[in-house]
Amino acid sequence: MRKGSSKMDQKLVEEIRKMPNDVDNISKITEKIINDLKSKRYPIPIVSIMKKLDFIVGKQKLEDDLSGYIVINDEIEKKFGKKKMICVNSNDSWGHQRFTIAHELAHYLFDYNTKKPEFYNTYRTTDVNNDIEIRANKFAANLLMPEKEFEQQYNKYYNDIDLYAKLEEYFQVSRRAIDRRIIELGLN
Ligand SMILES: [Zn+2]
Repeated sequence: MRKGSSKMDQKLVEEIRKMPNDVDNISKITEKIINDLKSKRYPIPIVSIMKKLDFIVGKQKLEDDLSGYIVINDEIEKKFGKKKMICVNSNDSWGHQRFTIAHELAHYLFDYNTKKPEFYNTYRTTDVNNDIEIRANKFAANLLMPEKEFEQQYNKYYNDIDLYAKLEEYFQVSRRAIDRRIIELGLN
């Protein structure tokens, strides 16, 4: 890795942690992350974003309803050389895995107490939707499918019989995520 780049990314994380992070402000935060990317092409490179933040991104066979988890502790560092890891369920589609990674990134930015040495959080699709989970899902949707870009692509393929497939391919997310985003943005 380029010397100093990790410092820059840490600066971005610190700036984000100072921003208001209620649900209504989430898109300002995801915009900031996207603006910081060198390439403005889609799909959003969620794995490279995590690697820049010094995460290990892994895949593992997990129980069916467990999409993934984030873990930060010394044990991980001893085992893998890095303290922070996000793991996704290898049984899930790539689109859903990407959403899981973005969801856990939200927990890292907003819910991880940096004063404590350890953090662990799991993501289940069956999770009760409390405020923290709603925020993490909103963050993931906004990061992977920013409103303006999503509307543009939606309008572009609106009359296409393969609308959903086109959007899935462009944003590299699951059909379910596309479905929710369409409803969320009032496009249907
Ligand atoms: Zn969560």
